[in-house]
Amino acid sequence: MTTSGQQIPFQDLRLSNAELMETLAKASESVIRSGRYINGDAVRELETSLAAGCGARYCVAVSTGLDALRLILLAYMHLGKLHEGDEVIVPDNTFVATFLAVTSCNLTAVAADVNEEDYCLDFSRLPITPRTKAIIPVHLYGNPCWDKDIFSQLREKGILIIEDNAQAIGATANEEGFNGNSATGNLGDAAAISFYPAKNIGALGDAGAVLTSDEALARTVRMLANYGSREKYVHELKGYNCRMDELQAALLNVKLPMVSNIAAERGRRARLYDSLIRNPEVVKPGIYDDRKQVWHQYVIRHPRRDELRQYLRQQGIATEIHYPVPCHLQPCYRDDKQVKIYGKPVNAVRYAAEILSLPIADITDEEIGIVSQAINEF
Ligand SMILES: *Cc1c(COP(=O)(O)O)cnc(C)c1O
Repeated sequence: MTTSGQQIPFQDLRLSNAELMETLAKASESVIRSGRYINGDAVRELETSLAAGCGARYCVAVSTGLDALRLILLAYMHLGKLHEGDEVIVPDNTFVATFLAVTSCNLTAVAADVNEEDYCLDFSRLPITPRTKAIIPVHLYGNPCWDKDIFSQLREKGILIIEDNAQAIGATANEEGFNGNSATGNLGDAAAISFYPAKNIGALGDAGAVLTSDEALARTVRMLANYGSREKYVHELKGYNCRMDELQAALLNVKLPMVSNIAAERGRRARLYDSLIRNPEVVKPGIYDDRKQVWHQYVIRHPRRDELRQYLRQQGIATEIHYPVPCHLQPCYRDDKQVKIYGKPVNAVRYAAEILSLPIADITDEEIGIVSQAINEF
């Protein structure tokens, strides 16, 4: 327990959902009464708002963030733009879903190292080979992973740019992408969003979305997510069932308008941590004026991370590690030919032992003060 006797959880999902109890209940009730539980008005409304929110031409609401990534890759395979065995560059420090999407499509995931500033892809050392056909920049922790010059060069080589925007809904990059604006989710060729309950905008269950301005890709993703069909009982493709529930869409329609307020509030908390944490051994995350970070996580680094984490735990302060094991070292990828490295991702391996995520989702200023003080006293 903290000196004042409190327990500080990492994230208590009940808090933000309880605040919206009445509107969420009303939205659910209207779906229950509608009698339409798949592909109804709530899904259409959510798709329209999501596309408009970042300026993408098309949005397809789907079952999960992982499925969003898989459907994009599968659709590119159907369209002849990707083929089995092609190399797809992915950052080694990401949630394993980024890798699983690639390997589940029989593509090869090439684990790339991350940089020291924001833990996103290190653009100076991208493992590009003649077999590279796509890259998945992950906007990790809500930090836009973008460099227009680098991505222009990749594009000239015909490399597809698929954003993993699971953690960065509402973020904007420091320069515009190829579709004329800087919103993540609309920077490259296609993007995946996740509405896993703990994300900045969370469903009350699983949900995800695909964004793109490519008409053929959007049409193929929509078909693949719906048994390969556009017209009932006509199956043009060997598809899947990866649709978003009408109920989740209705709940998300309540939450989506709050996306900027949530980002602004998290940003304020990040700046408060930044001003209060003074332990010289701690490396704090960068705060940038030229882009909009949405602070999905507030991640510090410490050379004795495990001891610090234990010290905080003893004081009732919960923390997390995003992520403790670089993806290429996960047991499922041991001796696996579908994951390649060209040179060891040294930063990813080193930071996995040093990074620590502090609570930022549902924390009060007073609690931020307590967490910061405990870190300073360590
Ligand atoms: C959450 C997440 C995913 C997967 O999303 P789900 O909706 O949980 O399937 C993919 N990539 C990253 C970076 C994530 O954080």
